Amino acid sequence: MSRAVVVGAGIAGLTAARSLADAGLDVLVLEATDRPGGKLRSGEVAGVTVDVGAEAMLHRRPEGTALATELGLPLTHPTAATSRVWTREALRRLPRTVMGAPVDLDDLADSGILSAEGLARARRQAVAQPDGDVSVGDLVGARYGDEVVDRLVEPLLGGVYAGQARRISTRSAVPQLLDLLARPEVTLPAPAAGAPPVFAAVAGGMWRLPGALDADLRDRGSTEVRYDAPVTALRRTSAGFAVTTPAGDEAAARLVLATPAAPAARLLAELAPAAATELAGIAYASVALVTFAFRAADPGVAEALDTGASGFLVPPVDGRRVKASTFSFAKWDWVRDAGEGLLVLRTSLGRYGEEASLQVPDEALVRASLADLAEATGLAAVPVDAVVQRWGGGLPQYWVGHADRIARIRAAVAQVPGIAVCGAAYDGVGIPATIGSARRAVADLLV
Ligand SMILES: Cc1cc2nc3c(=O)[nH]c(=O)nc-3n(C[C@H](O)[C@H](O)[C@H](O)COP(=O)(O)OP(=O)(O)OC[C@H]3O[C@@H](n4cnc5c(N)ncnc54)[C@H](O)[C@@H]3O)c2cc1C
Repeated sequence: MSRAVVVGAGIAGLTAARSLADAGLDVLVLEATDRPGGKLRSGEVAGVTVDVGAEAMLHRRPEGTALATELGLPLTHPTAATSRVWTREALRRLPRTVMGAPVDLDDLADSGILSAEGLARARRQAVAQPDGDVSVGDLVGARYGDEVVDRLVEPLLGGVYAGQARRISTRSAVPQLLDLLARPEVTLPAPAAGAPPVFAAVAGGMWRLPGALDADLRDRGSTEVRYDAPVTALRRTSAGFAVTTPAGDEAAARLVLATPAAPAARLLAELAPAAATELAGIAYASVALVTFAFRAADPGVAEALDTGASGFLVPPVDGRRVKASTFSFAKWDWVRDAGEGLLVLRTSLGRYGEEASLQVPDEALVRASLADLAEATGLAAVPVDAVVQRWGGGLPQYWVGHADRIARIRAAVAQVPGIAVCGAAYDGVGIPATIGSARRAVADLLV
């Protein structure tokens, strides 16, 4: 039986390993850290175990929910609580948009998110006909004006990519906007009653997904998952590749690189230099999440937090420290139940280009978050606990031209038969897209 080595035990690497094992190969997964999951990770706040990385997945794309179901994990969906936008000194209702592009201008007007001038510009709509790839900010701005970009597109895109709307590629990040904004009338039917929810999660936390994959792989005699095993070099051999770790070399007939772009670039520098150069050009944003637990019975807590909102987004133009807050207790029934009288929520800080603002002690991130929460909601209580999770280089930036760059990377990697690449850097940062990229890598390897 031929052996495959997978580098990285994030959701991409573990999915690739499972597909390779399903195809009858011996598989060895080598992971640099001491745990599975990468950006899917649990943490404990006031004794409650919650996600301190990804917390949800798209339900419309089947890969994530189908995988969880195959592994026997229970799925859940967000409650009916809705998000707000904290802008122009108030928490305002989020109108219906496609990643910030409004689909109903009266609804937009009612939300109060735009100034009178901003709304007048949005209503003057100029039909956009982009030539080639264009940033989401430039596309939406051309049609509705800069204020829509600054107050809606930036916070919504920032929530997914921690990036800047005027750099992120429409083709790669929100391709449906190309067609929508080319129409003279932008309308979108309201979701039908009983339509499937847009998002799902694993009840008890998304971190359970890599845990279940790890257990599934361990149950198979022909698969090994090794932790604290960083891969430092790759070399060609007569039988395939030698994969170097601090403990020695491992032989691989086939190899899947399921790491972020920077380590993939370093590992491919000799074997596929053109791919390495392109990979090194993919920028990453750093973010930090601060998870808080508040006692629901403390004075003022329920009045400030338990109001039917699932949290709020913050446009960068408003100059706050936090870029969003998710009221996890309101968004997920399982979090409220697990909290037993505690309200667990989180703030997120950091966008591309703002790395310096995160280079402060954890306590400073906690204080900044509490100050913004207080101003946004009136919350004055002291939290029972707070936990900071930093994600340095956590989110790849899908800048204009990203799809062409990925095509060049894949073409260069294909020159080295037996290697494939996958992960969040390639076909989408979300969990289902990342799983999809892993399946594609395995399919490419097995042809
Ligand atoms: C804070 C945050 C919140 C997010 N929230 C969501 C969300 O709610 N929904 C959603 O769909 N997506 C979300 N995402 C995005 C999504 O979680 C990630 O894009 C996805 O999990 C990445 O998976 P991956 O396997 O490609 O990479 P990673 O999770 O980065 O895994 C790569 C693994 O490779 C390992 N590695 C690196 N170098 C080496 C080496 N040399 N040798 C061995 N191992 C190595 C790393 O240690 C890591 O474990 C979020 C991301 C972040 C950062």
